[in-house]
Amino acid sequence: MIKRHHIPQPVIEIIERLSQAGFEAFIVGGCVRDTLLGRTPKDWDITTNAIPDEIMALFPESFYENGFGTVGVKVVRFMESTPEEKEEDVIEVTTYRIESGYADKRRPDTVAFTDSLEQDLARRDFTINAMAYGPRNGVWDLIDPFHGQNDLEQRILRTVGNPKDRLNEDALRLMRAVRFFAELNTANAHWQIDTDTFSAIRQLADGLKSISHERIRDELSHIILSKNPEAGITMLEDTGLLKHIIPELREGIGVSQNLHHSFTVWEHNIKALATCPSKKLSVRLAALLHDVGKPRTKRGEGYRSTFYNHDHVGARMTKAILTRLHYPNTIIDHATLLVDNHLFYYNVGEVTEASVRRLIRRVGLENMRDLMDVRIGDRLGSGVPKAKPYKLRHLEYMVEKVSRDPVSVKMLSIKGTDLLETLHVPAGPKIGAILDVLLAEVIEDPSKNTREALLQRSNDLINRDLDALRRLAKERIDEKRHEDDRGIKKSHWVG
Ligand code: ATP
Ligand code: MG
Repeated sequence: MIKRHHIPQPVIEIIERLSQAGFEAFIVGGCVRDTLLGRTPKDWDITTNAIPDEIMALFPESFYENGFGTVGVKVVRFMESTPEEKEEDVIEVTTYRIESGYADKRRPDTVAFTDSLEQDLARRDFTINAMAYGPRNGVWDLIDPFHGQNDLEQRILRTVGNPKDRLNEDALRLMRAVRFFAELNTANAHWQIDTDTFSAIRQLADGLKSISHERIRDELSHIILSKNPEAGITMLEDTGLLKHIIPELREGIGVSQNLHHSFTVWEHNIKALATCPSKKLSVRLAALLHDVGKPRTKRGEGYRSTFYNHDHVGARMTKAILTRLHYPNTIIDHATLLVDNHLFYYNVGEVTEASVRRLIRRVGLENMRDLMDVRIGDRLGSGVPKAKPYKLRHLEYMVEKVSRDPVSVKMLSIKGTDLLETLHVPAGPKIGAILDVLLAEVIEDPSKNTREALLQRSNDLINRDLDALRRLAKERIDEKRHEDDRGIKKSHWVG
């Protein structure tokens, strides 16, 4: 049951001001659904028969938001999700409307206002999103012509009206169906997609081709950040949508692993996402994609199959996938880095401080927490009931311990200017190359990180030419990288 006191005061005030001026006004859509579910709505939307000019005349602090009849009304901040420093929230007040003519399956050709709430509810996608609550003939009531409340109780996601027609009108609804399915499903609430709606999605899945990458990406992100991403990604596959979004993930379907894993590559990627403790989108994307390179690198069958290099192949695939979906570069780069490094070797007692410093140097101290979160998902999602939290806790301790040691040239006890001024090395790339050699050596032995020792060592290096210096730095790092990789192979000897 929804009651007036569930609605925040600023929202009530807008509805009452519209009512007093002789208009109808209701809260509508997601906020009604979420309130009935006992969840906190992301935003509060109001629908009314007042047209935009009439709404703006009643609310001086308002602005016309878009061409679809939506007016933003500013109110004092009341939403907990709004950052504290902000003083305002914006409530969207939208005129009742019908949409007609979806020639390109994307957006209505025309938007027409109507004075019927029922018509406005009829254009909405799912029955649970097509309810309104507000005063009618002086009494606050739920207006629910499509029995959304019943579907909420039965936990059924169903389109308003004929599923094929409604999904054909706007193919984004295909994604929205799966998104709501993932957001609503929890451990103790099993939602289903209504049979007719489900078969219509399967039948019309190719319609996703007409939807922009950005809109698909936004719905995918909702799924990945939802309460039940495992159900969401699985449903994307069951509905035939995934092949239009991340076909690469499907390469892992039925691909068995080896004695470390009881799940196929496909199942394991999804479970790693589901168990990844991070709330960050890029980290969760990395968890989902961390083993995406395995099918293409698999050698051999059965218990002894190997997946050498799947981390780097997977990183390249991750970059291509996220670029195609038009994710911003910050997300692409971060997820790619995490996939590329997810195999880092760590065994208590076996791994030296220097190798932890090298890992930090490669990944960046600021990314170590995220890398560990991907690893936790990898472990917990592998079906082997040993998450080895002790190992990771120990690594956290080691990271903490060595993070005071030099892992970037900035932390060396001398700077480029020292080389310029004290040793008179001419300005140019040689200075950077010398610092790289010094860093490679200090990573192995932090006791060398004193001004005196470094200046002396620089003196030896000055006479080498640039190429020789670069080779030396690379050798020092590669030598060790090779050792680290041997560790990785040993621990994952089978992949
Ligand atoms: P959220 O909690 O994620 O905001 P929501 O249900 O509020 O979920 P919105 O995308 O904010 O979803 O849209 C608000 C309402 O507008 C929906 O509840 C639905 O009634 C309607 N709606 C949104 N997008 C569509 C669409 N593509 N087709 C039909 N109706 C839609
Ligand atoms: Mg909303």
